[in-house]
Amino acid sequence: MSTFKFVVLPGDGIGPEVMKAALEVLEVACKKHGHSLDYKVCAVGGAGIDEFGKALPDSTVETCKASDAILFGSVGGPKWEHLPPAEQPERAALLPLRKIFKLFANIRPGLLYPQLTDASPLKSERIPDGIDIVCIRELTGGIYFGEKKTWTEPDGQLAACDTMMYRVSEIERIAEVAGNTAMARGKKVCSIDKANVLETSVLWRKTVTEYFKKHFPEVELKYMYVDNAAMQLARDPNQFDVFFTENMFGDILSDEMAVICGSLGMLCSASLGDIKNSLGLKFGLYEPAGGTAPDIAGKGIANPCAQILSAALMMRYSFGQDEIAAEIERAVRDAVCSGVRTGDIAFGIEPVSTDQMKQAVIDRL
Ligand code: NAD
Repeated sequence: MSTFKFVVLPGDGIGPEVMKAALEVLEVACKKHGHSLDYKVCAVGGAGIDEFGKALPDSTVETCKASDAILFGSVGGPKWEHLPPAEQPERAALLPLRKIFKLFANIRPGLLYPQLTDASPLKSERIPDGIDIVCIRELTGGIYFGEKKTWTEPDGQLAACDTMMYRVSEIERIAEVAGNTAMARGKKVCSIDKANVLETSVLWRKTVTEYFKKHFPEVELKYMYVDNAAMQLARDPNQFDVFFTENMFGDILSDEMAVICGSLGMLCSASLGDIKNSLGLKFGLYEPAGGTAPDIAGKGIANPCAQILSAALMMRYSFGQDEIAAEIERAVRDAVCSGVRTGDIAFGIEPVSTDQMKQAVIDRL
C-alpha cells in the first residue's frame, strides 16, 4: 500500500476540465490496488498570473520541489495574449519548469488505435493497423537555449542570430533514454539529424553511434536526415517504432506526428530528467500534447483521454506502477474502441461529454 505524492497544475482553458477527469480515473485505478493519492493543486499559467501576478508563482515551484512528479494540464489563452512574449503563460511557466527540473527528455507516444484511423489525415489503407510509434525529443539544449542576439549591421539593417549547441554529455543522456525505450519495445531506433549540413548533427551522429555500440548493442540503430524524416513520417509512420532527435527538429516532428495520429485530445507526453524523486525513480512532468483549446473551453466537451494517459505515464515513470499504467491505458483503449467518443474523434458517432468519457474509462477499470 503506497501513497503517491504529486503536484497538480491544471492551468487554463480545458486544463482544469480534463484534469478533474484524469484525477478521478487515477483515484479509481490506484484504489483498486490499495494505493492512495496525495496531491496539491497549484496555480500555473494564466491562472498564476491572475492569482499571483506570475505564470509560475514561487509557491508553485516550491510545492513542485517537495513532490515526486508534476501532472500538468495546459496553459495560455486569449486573455493573456496582450502580454509581452516573455510573460506569456507558455513561455513563462513551461520553459522555466523544464529548466528548473532539468527535464531534458520528452517522450511522446504516437498512438492511433486501428478503430480511429478515420481521425488521421492519412489514408486509412496506409495505416490499417493504426499507428504505434514513440517520438523522443531533446528538450533543454539546442537552438532554443543557445546564445541569441539582434544587432545593426554597418549598412543600417537589422540582423539576428540564434546558436545551436550540443555537448557530448547532452547527446549521450538523450541517447540513453532512446535506447531504454527501444529495449522496452521493438529494439529498433532511428536517430534524426542534419549531419550533411550541421556541425552539431555530425557530433550528434558520432556520439549516438558510439553510445549505442557500447550500451545498446542489441538495438538496431538507423539514421535519417530531418527533411527526409518529415516526409517518411507522413508516408509510412510505422517504419519508425522509436525515433529521437534534437530540440527544434523534435518540436516540429512531434507536432507532425500528433496530427497524423488524429486528435490532440488523445496524445500524452512525459518530460523526464536525471533528478530522482523520493522513491529513487525519475521526477517527471506529464502533460497532454494539446493546448488549452479556447474554442471548446467551458463547454464540458473536451477529450480527457490525453490527460488520463499522461497520468498513466506518471504512474509508470515516476511511481514505478507499470500495472496501474497499463490498466488505465487499456481502459481508455476499450472505451474509445467500443464507440464512446468525444466530438474530436466522433466521426458519425453521437459525441459524449468529458464527464461521460471519463465515466466510460472508470467503468472499464
Ligand atoms: P490547442 O491545442 O489548444 O487547440 C488546437 C485544436 O485542437 C483546437 O481546435 C482544440 O479544440 C483541439 N483540441 C486540443 N485539445 C483537445 C482536447 N483535449 N479535446 C478536444 N479537442 C482538443 O492549440 P491552439 O489553439 O493553438 O492554442 C490555444 C492556447 O493553448 C494558446 O494560448 C497556446 O499558447 C496554448 N498552448 C499551450 C500548450 C501547453 O500548455 N503545453 C501547448 C499548446 C498550446
